[in-house]
Parts: sequence; structure tokens; C-alpha cells
Amino acid sequence: MPTTPNILLARLDQLTQAMADYPTARLIVVSKNQPPEALLPLLQAGQRDFGENRVQEAADKWPALRARFPDLRLHLIGQLQRNKVVQAASLFDAIHSLDRPALADALAAVGYSRPVLIQVNLAAEPQKGGVLVADLPALITHSRDRLGLNLVGLMTIPPRGEDPTPYFQQLATLARQHQLPELSMGMSEDYPQALAAGASLIRVGSYVFAQD
Ligand SMILES: *Cc1c(COP(=O)(O)O)cnc(C)c1O
Repeated sequence: MPTTPNILLARLDQLTQAMADYPTARLIVVSKNQPPEALLPLLQAGQRDFGENRVQEAADKWPALRARFPDLRLHLIGQLQRNKVVQAASLFDAIHSLDRPALADALAAVGYSRPVLIQVNLAAEPQKGGVLVADLPALITHSRDRLGLNLVGLMTIPPRGEDPTPYFQQLATLARQHQLPELSMGMSEDYPQALAAGASLIRVGSYVFAQD
């Protein structure tokens, strides 16, 4: 059973209030695994930014919703395979998961001109996507300066079970060093800390859709 519209709207309200002190930050509602019926009340309430982590799921769900809400913005927040780049480029208004030069090449080859963020694996966790900190400068040079991608920021997911604040601060420092204005960080568990550290895009899923 999808979460009832009343609960969804109450959660959206709570998030809006939590973000009131950060007027430039934007909420991305992470809608993975959620049926279109659960997204309609949010769209009708004016929410416009949504995140998906799988290209195929986004292709199944979002074209019909976009026909009704043409100004919505869909963000790809999961890993992108090269063979899905053409499809992703036509679906997503921003890509948060650039993590390697070959993917930058593929995005440039299809003429992707919308905002791109590089995902950084700050703690070098083997199971996690993202470029290592040591390889970040080269990936920025390659994608922004050489290929001319519209690189706007950095994205990260801090390690589970650790204080996220030092990781958020490190991402903010890296973005500043490279003149990248957007910071995509903060999820249901840690968005308050992310906002305090300067997040411009928070990605919140389960907090919005949890049943209780
Ligand atoms: C699922 C997901 C989120 C949202 O996580 P919640 O804990 O449900 O808020 C944010 N970012 C990425 C990359 C995700 O895959």
C-alpha cells in the first residue's frame, strides 16, 4: 500500500520547515521503488525535483508524469552504465553520479548539456560508487575543461554509522577549491547535518514515504 497523501504532504511540510533556514537549498524527493500514485500528491502540492537511481525504472514511471507536469526535474542519483547513456540523457534533467572519464566521454558524445555532478567516494569504500578523492582533480579537468560538460557540483554518500559532518565539510571544501557551486548531500538520516554544512541539494526518500 502506498503511503497516504495526508502523510506524504505532512512530511513534505516538515522538510520545508527544516529547510527554512537554508533558502537556497532544494529538496530532491527520492522516488525509487515508489509507484506513480504515491508521487502524484507531491507533484500536485508543487514538489518538482525527484531522484531515481535506476534508468529503467525512471523510463517506466516518469514520461507519463512529465506529460502532466512538464516543469518537473528528474535527477539521476545512481550509477550509470555506458550502454544506458542515450536513454539517461533523454530522461534526466541532471546527473549526480559521474564517476569516471569513460562515462564523461559517453555523456559528451551524446551532447548532454544539462547539469552534471561528480560523485565522490570520500572514504574509499569498495562497495560504493564515486571517484576517489585522489582522482577527482583529473576527472574535473577531463569532464569540464576538456569535454565541456556542464559540471556544476559534487555529490556524496558518507559511510554508514559514522558522524557525517566531517565528510560533508570535506565535500564542501573540495567543491570550493574547484569552483563548483552545487553540493548534493544529505539523505533521510543526515539531511540536517548536510544543510548545516552547506548542501544545496538534499536527496530524501524514506523520510517522505515511510508508513509511520
Ligand atoms: C536511496 C537514495 C537516497 C535516499 O535515501 P533515504 O535514506 O531513503 O532518504 C539518496 N541518495 C541516493 C544516492 C540514494 O540511492
